[in-house]
Amino acid sequence: MSKIYINTELGTEKRCTRCGDYYPLDTDFFYKNGVWRGKIQWTSHCKACFTETYRGDK
Ligand SMILES: [Zn+2]
Repeated sequence: MSKIYINTELGTEKRCTRCGDYYPLDTDFFYKNGVWRGKIQWTSHCKACFTETYRGDK
């Protein structure tokens, strides 16, 4: 199993559970999904996949 989070020279990256690619964990690549115990929660899909699945099939 591959990790969801990896640490790179540029900081933490998170794997999108849909496309399987790693992206920097910030608002350029992921949507915030609220805050839990003072920590930001991120959606499990990257922005591109999130937008696709949210819109549904076309
Ligand atoms: Zn994705």
